[in-house]
Amino acid sequence: MKKMALHWKIIIGMALGVLWALLSSTMGWSQFTINWIDPFGTIFINLLKLIAVPLVLFSIISGVANIGEPSSLGRMGGKTLGIYLLTTIMAISLGLLLVNMIAPGKLIDEQSRIDNRISYEIWADSEGLEIKDGVNYLKDPEFFERAQEISELSKTELQDAAVADKMKTVNNRKEATPLQPLVDIVPSNFFYSLSNNGLMLQIIFFALFFGVCLLFIPSEKSAPVLKLVDGINEVFLKMVDVVMQAAPFFVFALLAGVVSKMAGDDIGKVVEIFKGLSWYSLTVLIGLLLMIFVVYPIILKFFVKKIPYTGFFKSMSPAQTLAFSTSSSAATLPVTMECVEQNLGVNKKISSFVLPIGATVNMDGTSLYQAVAVIFLAQMHMIDLTIGQQITVVLTATLASIGSAAVPSAGLVMLIIVLNSVGLNPAWIAIIFPVDRILDMFRTVVNVTGDATVCSIIADGENMLEYREHENPTETFDLDS
Ligand code: ASP
Repeated sequence: MKKMALHWKIIIGMALGVLWALLSSTMGWSQFTINWIDPFGTIFINLLKLIAVPLVLFSIISGVANIGEPSSLGRMGGKTLGIYLLTTIMAISLGLLLVNMIAPGKLIDEQSRIDNRISYEIWADSEGLEIKDGVNYLKDPEFFERAQEISELSKTELQDAAVADKMKTVNNRKEATPLQPLVDIVPSNFFYSLSNNGLMLQIIFFALFFGVCLLFIPSEKSAPVLKLVDGINEVFLKMVDVVMQAAPFFVFALLAGVVSKMAGDDIGKVVEIFKGLSWYSLTVLIGLLLMIFVVYPIILKFFVKKIPYTGFFKSMSPAQTLAFSTSSSAATLPVTMECVEQNLGVNKKISSFVLPIGATVNMDGTSLYQAVAVIFLAQMHMIDLTIGQQITVVLTATLASIGSAAVPSAGLVMLIIVLNSVGLNPAWIAIIFPVDRILDMFRTVVNVTGDATVCSIIADGENMLEYREHENPTETFDLDS
């Protein structure tokens, strides 16, 4: 009998997870789900992350060292970063276009927007910021009393533990010098970097450094090291195969946990949460879907004629479904690598170099969402951002997406920086917080799809792409293979 493709099993797992959450919320079993089912979802993400860090390390070292020529490495590195940057800027521009056209923040009633504006001005006043555009409602005594009430409100918002936590992380960064991001990439103790999943860029730096130096030592010395690295790499890839056998069950637990935490014992809550933010969510979703189904396929059609539209999705579907259920491109990386190598036919030399870097620095979905979120929040506070400010959004969203760790909710944390850059209140992340986890699932799919697209372009440019039509390309995860 023909085996069911893995991505279908994962999709069924997800659907059952949501159904279970709905059932447990109506029956009042949410606490049971959170206590006894959700932990398996966490175990799954931990397992994948456990593999991701060493895999990034060893695959970049082997990728770099196997290239053989330092000059071709430089060319490929430049191309990779250039195309990653280009797709990110395209994604942000698309986000800005959509949010300016749909204007979801303006669809909120006028009075709430005026109230929001007042609370913004109180905040800006307390921060010593000057409000250049628009009317100063604070000058109007009639609004004053109301405004104070609202400022109390935003203070309580600020006390929201989850948000305050995120603010603290970013405030630490704010105090640093402009070159701090560069300083942060260079580890002073590599073993410390290995112990922290948020320090992936340091691991990439070390791996590149190590790989390049391996190219410059005599081959009788480098050959055994390279063999060892390649062997270890294989072990980690096997670990992915093993973990993926249980993915449908783990994904069931993951989704049941996420939805149960949102709904508690009142399923109506999820609907309520989405109602208030429906236009915003819709704008982000339209942008993300356009990226997946229109922008990337057009780019591929243009640069990599070999890969057909449906072939690309068939090949990438295990990685895409996993990205959706884990909301982490780092956790998905091992599977992305398998899909790109075995299904799209990208040579390992390219994928092991391009994909780990992409998972860390190329986040088109995250940057698109950040652009939409900032403009939406400004709109709902009656603040029109100028073209200059929107260009600042493009720049900071690009940097913020590069700086976002490839883990759930990282994009939300980095949104604080984008809000800060145009003088908006970073505590507003509390407003979009309720729907963020769900949108995170979609933007992670875009992040992963973007990495695979760029990887195919680079491979094709280097004549290292051999796409073949597979009958069932998703059955790469086979314990017997
Ligand atoms: N979860 C996203 C990722 O891992 C990052 C984010 O946007 O929060 O790619």
